[in-house]
Amino acid sequence: PADHVVPPEDMVSESRDERAGLDKIRLEARLRDAIDNHTLDVRYQPIYDIAEGRVSGYEALVRWQLPDRGAVSPAEFIKLAEETSLIVPVGEYVLDRVLEVLTALRDAGTTPLPSIAVNLSARQLVEPGMASQIVARTQRAHLPPGALKLEITESRMLDYTPVAAVMAHCREHGIPFALDDFGTGYSNLTHLHKLDFEFIKVDQAFARHMFDSPRAMAIVNAIVAMAHGIGAYVVVEGVETHDQLQRLRALGVRYAQGYLIGQAQPASSVLSGEAGRGLQARASATG
Ligand code: C2E
Ligand code: MG
Ligand code: MG
Ligand code: MG
Repeated sequence: PADHVVPPEDMVSESRDERAGLDKIRLEARLRDAIDNHTLDVRYQPIYDIAEGRVSGYEALVRWQLPDRGAVSPAEFIKLAEETSLIVPVGEYVLDRVLEVLTALRDAGTTPLPSIAVNLSARQLVEPGMASQIVARTQRAHLPPGALKLEITESRMLDYTPVAAVMAHCREHGIPFALDDFGTGYSNLTHLHKLDFEFIKVDQAFARHMFDSPRAMAIVNAIVAMAHGIGAYVVVEGVETHDQLQRLRALGVRYAQGYLIGQAQPASSVLSGEAGRGLQARASATG
């Protein structure tokens, strides 16, 4: 029978590659539309200042919802965007939404003004004109120093010199930097050695295994000591339980982020202040 006829290996993979290529082109066109039509969504995940016992800022996380496909994960479309240079308009889009939120909060007299962190790949950061764009847009918004932060998400095989120059330029204009996903992948000690970060964001794998692996706990402890030595604050990602938060406090970690504090929420919740009340509400509910 015909279905027993197996096409040669290379034919199969070729047609698969073609299909993947077409999907990519279609997805790219739709991403371009989403940017143009403002249908990309930016959500805000609260960051908890453990020392002060309050939500002191947010991380902006981009979301893309397609009617026929559901949510496309940023892991997928950020990679696509980077390959096609759509990452530049995506980055501008996210930055503009964030500056709108910060401006609205400032105009409403919110004190202290929360900070909002925007994710940038190192590749994005050294894109010609990117840093001056960021600085120009931020200056136009007349925000206090530190209101906008930048998180560097990935920086494999990059020249440190241009990255350091861009970082210095942004920092001069009151924009601090966080090294994201520290302890995994390409986020390593060389980055800390070569570049000057105000914040180190410890990858969520460490919080997840804190209690089942004494090693994970020891590593978080060592990162805190190291951060102290280089004058950086530690943010631990992926905090989901009160036990984890308690232990991080005891270890001297300054900031926590994760589902315990809150998920990423729409701009309206940030503007109303509701996005920052999650943990306090839950903490008082549980006594
Ligand atoms: P990230 O910057 O490390 O962001 C944290 C990710 O962890 C987010 O996933 C967030 O929803 C998730 N998360 C936060 N708390 C918890 C928790 O308690 N438990 C668990 N299991 N997960 C938690 P998301 O939104 O899917 O983002 C994935 C990645 O996509 C981000 O990792 C970031 O690298 C990238 N990304 C997101 N938005 C942007 C953007 O605007 N520009 C760029 N260049 N990259 C972005
Ligand atoms: Mg991040
Ligand atoms: Mg991260
Ligand atoms: Mg991550």
